[in-house]
Amino acid sequence: MKIGFIGVGNMGGPMCRNIIRNTNHQVRVFDLNPAAVAACTALGATGADSTAAVAAEADVVFTSLPMPRHVEAVTLGPDGIAAHARAGTVLIDLSTNSPATARRVHDGMAAKGVRMLEAPVSGGVPRATDGTIVIMVGGDAAVFEANLPLLKSFSKEVIHVGPVGMGSVAKLCNNMLAFCNAAAASEALLLGAAAGIDVHKLYDVICNASGNSDAFRGLGPKAFARNFTPGFALDLAHKDLRLALEMADEVGMPAMIAPQVMTLMRMGRAAGMGADDSSSLLRVYEAALGREVT
Ligand code: NAD
Repeated sequence: MKIGFIGVGNMGGPMCRNIIRNTNHQVRVFDLNPAAVAACTALGATGADSTAAVAAEADVVFTSLPMPRHVEAVTLGPDGIAAHARAGTVLIDLSTNSPATARRVHDGMAAKGVRMLEAPVSGGVPRATDGTIVIMVGGDAAVFEANLPLLKSFSKEVIHVGPVGMGSVAKLCNNMLAFCNAAAASEALLLGAAAGIDVHKLYDVICNASGNSDAFRGLGPKAFARNFTPGFALDLAHKDLRLALEMADEVGMPAMIAPQVMTLMRMGRAAGMGADDSSSLLRVYEAALGREVT
């Protein structure tokens, strides 16, 4: 099969490289960043110079792009996938979008005979790299079944959650919870530091106690090493939480905790941390307290 991959950054890159390693498919990649393309061609993919060139010959095209506006441009724009793909091509979008964007892209593709699965992912760069990333798929069940072996070539957990739009619903609910956990993890670690405990010992305790979470486990090593290289950029986390809060407004859900976390994210971005890792929420607390966690 001919596979296209557009957007091979922090997440798309390792997922694309796992397809190259784990299948015999021909893989063609395009990214605005030549270094990101080179990391895939080094493993046997071929590079392309445009979305159109990838879309024109692929049986399945993956996208993993930062913001909904990038996804809309690459899929529905004049130089995009709908304009250049053959009827019968399948688009699998791995990006995080709103349900409305996913449905709009799906409908635009359907008008051209292109089938589409929205397939947002969870687990971050480590799990995209080791092939344990979770994929939550919204779309037609038959298209899902037909593409399941391909999805399983880079994920051990692929879950069909309903029609198109529901993948985004699952992803935004998950991330809202994960960011609330991340803010709570920062508060707990910094509270302990301010109260005088050895934070490495506090980290060991909580990793084995009832306050543990993925967010808490992930925060310790980054905080202790002062390593805020993304990972998962605060700008992208802010995008996800904004989409989750828009969804809450649409359905009339009175979110309580997430809006506070949104304020923390806004403070971090205003302080210039938007391109840094989303664990930089910790640094917002540190700035308020006037001390670092270590
Ligand atoms: P990233 O910025 O590292 O990668 C995106 C890539 O897309 C970049 O290499 C960029 O050059 C490329 N790109 C942008 N516009 C393009 C265009 N028009 N044509 C071709 N390439 C283009 O972002 P990421 O962290 O890999 O995130 C990608 C998506 O996955 C986002 O929607 C994000 O919310 C989601 N996501 C990220 C994580 C994470 O931990 N980083 C986890 C789950 C989901």
